[in-house]
Amino acid sequence: MSTSTPKSTNITWHGANVTRDEREEVLGQKGCVVWLTGLSGSGKSTIARRLEQKLLEMGRTAYVLDGDNLRFKLNKDLGFSPEDRTENIRRVGRVAELFCDAGVICITAFISPYRVDRDAAREMVPDGRFVEVHVATDLATCEARDPKGLYGKARAGEIKGFTGIDAPYEAPAAAEITLSTADRSVDASCDALIEGLQGLGLL
Ligand code: ADP
Repeated sequence: MSTSTPKSTNITWHGANVTRDEREEVLGQKGCVVWLTGLSGSGKSTIARRLEQKLLEMGRTAYVLDGDNLRFKLNKDLGFSPEDRTENIRRVGRVAELFCDAGVICITAFISPYRVDRDAAREMVPDGRFVEVHVATDLATCEARDPKGLYGKARAGEIKGFTGIDAPYEAPAAAEITLSTADRSVDASCDALIEGLQGLGLL
């Protein structure tokens, strides 16, 4: 999927009258993308929702982009083939880019199994504003949780191309933050994330 040449030709880029710096000053925070990646059932959505809530309680504006939710609307035309997964992440990266530019802390919860797709999303935002978080819950734990019953279906052959079963998950090589959730509560994971964001100068 080319991102360089738009299909339309009679379009003009309009610059803004307001900069991201000015928006951030009004909001009293830095825009960034907190990109959660991990297996299905690893805890991405659960952690994203709780983190959003905790940040709001701290007076920060955050917004969650959730994998399943976006597939109901923006990405309703996409399935789980490798090409569709890549396009899914490309669109999410572009939406996250806009939230970041708006000065919002954008938390994304997508399996995003391919390293090259996550790296492409990283390239969409300014340096230092993309925080890759590996929700590193092991497959056995995810499968035991099976919150949506999907592992059961994948093992029974009712779902093909399921990440971790018969489709690959490429773990991050250098995530800014790695969370193990098997031995940590949701709250403790969020607190570790907040600490990590503070350490990176984003909070
Ligand atoms: P994902 O978005 O990665 O597919 P979900 O957040 O939908 O995962 O599901 C994770 C499941 O694991 C939820 O049912 C959640 O309540 C449970 N869970 C148990 N312990 C934890 C933990 N420490 N962190 C996150 N989720 C946990």
